Amino acid sequence: LPRRIHQIIEPWVSRQPDAPALLQSGTVMSFGQLDAAASEAARRLTQLGLRAGDRLLLVAENSIPVVVLALACSRLDAWLVPINARLSQREIDTFVDHSGARLVVFTSAVSPEAEAHAQRLGAAEVDWPGCGRFHLTSANIAVAPEPTIADGEQVAALIYTSGTSGAPKAVMLTHRNLLFIAENGRCMRRQTPADRVYAVLPLSHIYGLATMALSALHAGASLVLAPRFEPAAVAAALETGRVTILHGVPAMYAKLLEWGRRPGNRLCAPALRIAQGGGAPLDQSFKDDFEAAVGITLHNGYGMTEASPSIAQTRLDAPRRDCSVGPPIPGIGIRIVKDGADVAPGEVGELHVRGPGVMKGYYKAPELTREAVDAEGWLNTGDLARQEQEEGGDGALFIVGRSKELIIRSGFNVYPIEVEQAINSHPDVVHCAVVGRDVPGNEEVVAYVELVPGRSLAPQALAAWLHERLSPYKIPSHIELLEHLPATATGKILKNQLRQMAAGAGV
Ligand code: ATP
Ligand code: MG
Repeated sequence: LPRRIHQIIEPWVSRQPDAPALLQSGTVMSFGQLDAAASEAARRLTQLGLRAGDRLLLVAENSIPVVVLALACSRLDAWLVPINARLSQREIDTFVDHSGARLVVFTSAVSPEAEAHAQRLGAAEVDWPGCGRFHLTSANIAVAPEPTIADGEQVAALIYTSGTSGAPKAVMLTHRNLLFIAENGRCMRRQTPADRVYAVLPLSHIYGLATMALSALHAGASLVLAPRFEPAAVAAALETGRVTILHGVPAMYAKLLEWGRRPGNRLCAPALRIAQGGGAPLDQSFKDDFEAAVGITLHNGYGMTEASPSIAQTRLDAPRRDCSVGPPIPGIGIRIVKDGADVAPGEVGELHVRGPGVMKGYYKAPELTREAVDAEGWLNTGDLARQEQEEGGDGALFIVGRSKELIIRSGFNVYPIEVEQAINSHPDVVHCAVVGRDVPGNEEVVAYVELVPGRSLAPQALAAWLHERLSPYKIPSHIELLEHLPATATGKILKNQLRQMAAGAGV
C-alpha cells in the first residue's frame, strides 16, 4: 500500500505508461510522462531550495502543473498549499504569510488572475519539461521547515477551508488522510482506467484534490482538467467526449441546468455514468430537474475539509430520490449529539465523526484544534444531522444545516436549508441563501435571492408564494434580490458575507 500520495500512480506507470492521465485543451499527458515530469519537478524544486517540511504554495487554477507539483511535493515531503487564483491580493498575501511558504507558484498559463498575482509579486516565468509554462518566486526564506515524519502521519497538504462561516482555517491533512479518500473514492465509484473524469472542481479545494483527482489517478483513470466552470464547455465535453464521471457543487449543476434550458442548448451525456454532487446542500428541485434532463442519478456526498473531506456518500447501488447524503462511508464512525449526549434515534443533533480522514489539526492553532477534535479523535462537524431509522435501511444521513446557522425566531427553530429549498423551487429563482439577523430579543429570517436572468419577481410576490408552502414563522421577514450571490471559487455561497450584509442593512 502506498504511504505517500505520489505513489498512487506507480502501478499505472508500470502497467499502462502510455495511457492518458491528464488531458488539458489538446495536451495529453500519459502516466509515464506524469511520473517523469513529477520527478524532474522534484529535482528542480530541490535546486531552488525546497526542503522536506517546507511549504509550497500554489496560486492555481486547474492545469497540468498543479498535479505535477502536487506529486513533486509528495516526493520531497514538502507540504502542498493550493490556493485558488481567483482570491484577492489580500487573501493570497495572508495565506503566503500564514503558511510560511518558501516557494510560490502561479499557474499563469491558464489563469489571467494567477498571471496578475505573479506580476504583482515579481515572480519569474519558467518552463519545465512536462509542466509547461508557469511563474515561480521564493518567499519566507528565513522560515524553518516543519519536522518530517516517516510514516503516513506526515502532512501532505495544507488546505484552507472555504470561509463560509468566517475566516478560512488552515487544515493539515496527512498522506494517510488523503490516501484514505483516494481509496474510498476509487471503490465507491468503482473507478477503473476506462473512466474519464471531468475535473472542474478546483484542485485548491479538498473535494477537487482528493475526492475528484487523487481517487481517479489512483484508479488509473484520466482527468480532463478545466481551469474554470463554463456551462457550455462542460456541456460540450459531456456531449462529444468520453467523460464518464462529473463532480460538482450544487451551484454548478444549477448553472448547467440553466444553460440547458436556454433556447438552442441541449444537455446530453452519452458516456456519463456518475454525476456526483456535494460540498453544499443539494436542492430537491435541482436534483429532480437534472435527473430528468440528463437521465442519470445525481449522487450526493457530504464532507468537510477537516475530514479530507468525505464523511457520507449515496451508494451507486442505492440511488436516492431525496436529498439524503447517504450513509457514512466505510471506516467513518458517527455520533449525533445534543447537549453532550447521543440523541434518540432519528432525532436532529450535531454530527461528530471519527476515522482515517480526520485531520491532523489546524496549522498553528492548537486551541482551535482541541475545540474541533476531542481526545478520542471525534471531530465536531458543526453540522446538524439526523439519521434515517428505516427497518433494514442503511442509516442514511440528512444534513439539516450548520448549527451556527440555525435561526431561533420567537422560540421556533428555523433551518435555513428548508426555507432555501422552498424558495429554490420557485421557477424564477436560480438559487438563494437564507441567514439570520439579530434584532433586540429575537432573530429574523432574511433571504437573498438570485433570479433567472430576464425574470422579474417582486419580493412580496415571492413571500406570498412562500405562504402557501411554509409555516408563517419560517417566512423571511425580508427578501432581497441580488444579481449574483457572493460565492467562493467552488461556487459555495459565502453566507458570512450575507449575514454581515443583513446585519448592516438594518432591514
Ligand atoms: P468554513 O469552515 O471556513 O466556514 P466551509 O465549512 O464551507 O467553510 P468546507 O470544508 O469547504 O468549508 O465545507 C464543509 C461544509 O460544507 C460542511 O461542514 C457542511 O456544512 C457543508 N456541506 C458539505 N457537503 C454538504 C452536503 N452534501 N449537504 C449539505 N451541506 C454540505
Ligand atoms: Mg467548515
